[in-house]
This record gives sequence, structure tokens and C-alpha cells, in this order.
Amino acid sequence: MATTNDVSNGMTEPCEVCEMDTLHEVTVQLVTEGDEGENARYSREPYRVRECQRCGNRESQRMNNA
Ligand SMILES: [Zn+2]
Repeated sequence: MATTNDVSNGMTEPCEVCEMDTLHEVTVQLVTEGDEGENARYSREPYRVRECQRCGNRESQRMNNA
């Protein structure tokens, strides 16, 4: 089966600012959390960061539902 599923950078998603589908650059960043607290261990949580290529609006969304 030939599936073309190469969604790298640049995908069209709705932008809240533009109020239309615009080209977004999507990256995944690991953000270190848990500097303090009872569990003194570092947890690196993946965040999905997308940036509108039209207005430059950036949104980050935590990928893990905790
Ligand atoms: Zn936008």
C-alpha cells in the first residue's frame, strides 16, 4: 500500500486569529517540567507547537493528557 503520509512541516490548520485555514509550521518540543515538588524527577513533556505562517500566532498544546 502506498500511503503518502509525510506530514512534516507545514500543514493547513484553522487559525483562531486569522479565522481561516492557514499554513502552520508544526513542531514538537520537549519541555522540562517538575523542577520542584514531591517527585523530584525531571519529566520532559512533549508539547505540540504550531505557528501560523500568516499572522505568526503561536499555540502550544500539551500532547499528554494528564
Ligand atoms: Zn493566523
